[in-house]
Amino acid sequence: MAICMTFRAAGSKVHLLINKSSIPWYIKMAAPTSVRFLHEKAYVNGKWADAASGKTFDVVNPSNGKKIGVVPDMDAADTQNAIQFAQTAFESWKETTAKERSVILRKWSELCIENKDELAKILTLENGKPLAEATGEVMYGTSFMEWFAEEARRVYGDIIPSPAKTKKILVLKQPIGVAGMITPWNFPNAMITRKACAAIAAGCTVVLKPAEDTPYSALALCELAEKAGLPPGVLNIVTCSRANAGVVGKMLCENPMVKKISFTGSTVVGKILLQQSASTVKKVSLELGGNAPFIVFDSADLDQAVNGTMNSKFRCSGQTCVCANRILVQEGIYPKYIQKLAEVMTRDLKVGDGFESGTTQGPLINHNAVEKVDGHVQDAIQKGAKLVLGGQKKGGNFYAPTLLQDVTLDMKCAKEEIFGPIAAVHKFKTEEEVIKIANTTTAGLAGYFFSQNISQIWRMAEKLEYGLIGVNEGLFSMTEAPFGGWKESGLGSEGSKYGLNEYLEIKYVCLGGM
Ligand code: ADP
Repeated sequence: MAICMTFRAAGSKVHLLINKSSIPWYIKMAAPTSVRFLHEKAYVNGKWADAASGKTFDVVNPSNGKKIGVVPDMDAADTQNAIQFAQTAFESWKETTAKERSVILRKWSELCIENKDELAKILTLENGKPLAEATGEVMYGTSFMEWFAEEARRVYGDIIPSPAKTKKILVLKQPIGVAGMITPWNFPNAMITRKACAAIAAGCTVVLKPAEDTPYSALALCELAEKAGLPPGVLNIVTCSRANAGVVGKMLCENPMVKKISFTGSTVVGKILLQQSASTVKKVSLELGGNAPFIVFDSADLDQAVNGTMNSKFRCSGQTCVCANRILVQEGIYPKYIQKLAEVMTRDLKVGDGFESGTTQGPLINHNAVEKVDGHVQDAIQKGAKLVLGGQKKGGNFYAPTLLQDVTLDMKCAKEEIFGPIAAVHKFKTEEEVIKIANTTTAGLAGYFFSQNISQIWRMAEKLEYGLIGVNEGLFSMTEAPFGGWKESGLGSEGSKYGLNEYLEIKYVCLGGM
C-alpha cells in the first residue's frame, strides 16, 4: 500500500510517496531534523535566558540516546531572580480583568492548535511517546487553556445573609500570588498547562521547573504564549539538571515571595517539597504516585474489560501515574481474561520509535526505568508468577510489553508503582477480599473496576479509597473533571471547576456601621 508522508524540515515541507512494505529503516526511524519552537534557553521575564553560571546540560532522545540539544542548568540564584520577576509581574497581572486574561488564554489555545503537529514532534522527540499519542496530549494540554479561559470569568464571590443588622458579610476571591511549579517528564505539555493556565487565569504569575528529561515542550509553549500576548514575567521557565533540581525546588518552596507550590511527580519528592513548604506555610498541591487496582468481576463484559486494560495499562508505555498497576481478576473470568488479553496485546502492541508509523509503545524514559521494570518482572517470576508474554529488554530503553499471571501480593510489582508496560494479573475470589486488597496501600490516586451488576457498581464506587474511579472505563482524564489523589497520592484537585481554587485566596470583608 502506498502512503504519503509529510516531513517538515527547516520550514519547508517534503512529501514522500513510499510503499509501506518497503519502508527502509532510516525513513521508518526518521525523527525530524529541524523542529520549530525548539529553544535551547530558559524563559525568564519574557526573554530567552542563560544560567548566570553559563552552564548547560544535554537533553537526549530516549528512543536512540542521541543528544537533541542543551538547555541552561540554572541554580538557586537563577530561580530567585525568576521569582523576583514573577513578583513584579504579579503586581500588574493581578490588576487585569478576568476578560483580559481570558482573551490571552484563548488566543494561546488557538495558536497551540494551529501548531499542534510541531508541538507533538517536540514531545515525541524528548519523551519518546508515539506521535499520535503526543498529538493527543497536545490537544489535551490545549484544552486546559480553553477551559481556564472560560473559568477565569466565573470566579464569583459571595454575599452571605448576616445575623447582624448593622453588618454585611462579603466574600472576595483573589489571586494568591507567585506560584512555583515542578512538573514531570511523562506529560511534558499537559502537566504544564493544567497547572499554569489555572494560575494565570486566576491572576497569578508562575515560575515553573520542567523535568530535566523534557524541557523543550515547556519552552515551546512560552513562544506561543508570548505570541498570544502574555506579558513578560507572567510565565517563567527555569530549566535545570537533576543535580540542581533539589536547590531549585528548595528555593521555590522556601522563598517567601512564592505563595503556592504545585508539583506532579514521585511521592518521595512530593514529601520533601511539602516539608520545605512548611517553613513559609505555603498552599501546596501535590499529584503523586499511584498503585491503581484494576478489578475485573465475573459479571464484567470481557471485551470491555480487556479494552479498558489496554487503554489504562499501556498509554505512554505504562508510564503514567493512573496506569493499572494491580490487575485483580475474579476466579470465574480469570482464564478467559488472560487468554483474551494475551491475544489483544500480541495483536495491538507494537514497540518502536515514536515517529515510526504504527508504533504504540515507545521507549521507557531512560536506562534506570528499564532496569527497574525488568527488576519487577524478574522478582515476580522468581516468586512464582507465570510469564505469559514479553519479559525481555529490547535494546536501548525499549522493553517488551509483558503479561504476568498468578501474581501475588508479596511481589514488588504489587507493592510498588510499576511505571512500565507490565500487566501483572492477580486472581481473587470475593468482593470483600478485593476491596481489602485494593485499599491496602498508602496510594489513593486511580482505581478501576469492571462489573455489570448495578448494586455492586454503586458499592464499589463508594468503597474504593481513590480520588479517581473508572467504572467500565480505562480512560477518564478530561479537562472538565477533577483530577487528584487521596492518601499519599496527593493534595488538591487540578482541572475542572475546582482547579482554579488552588490559586485563589478567600477574603471575608465585614461591612460594618450600616
Ligand atoms: P521521576 O523519578 O519519575 O523523574 P521525580 O519526582 O523524581 O519523578 O521527578 C519529577 C520532577 O521533580 C522533575 O521535574 C524532577 O526534576 C523534580 N525533582 C526531583 N527531585 C527533586 C527535588 N529534590 N526537589 C525538587 N524537585 C525535584
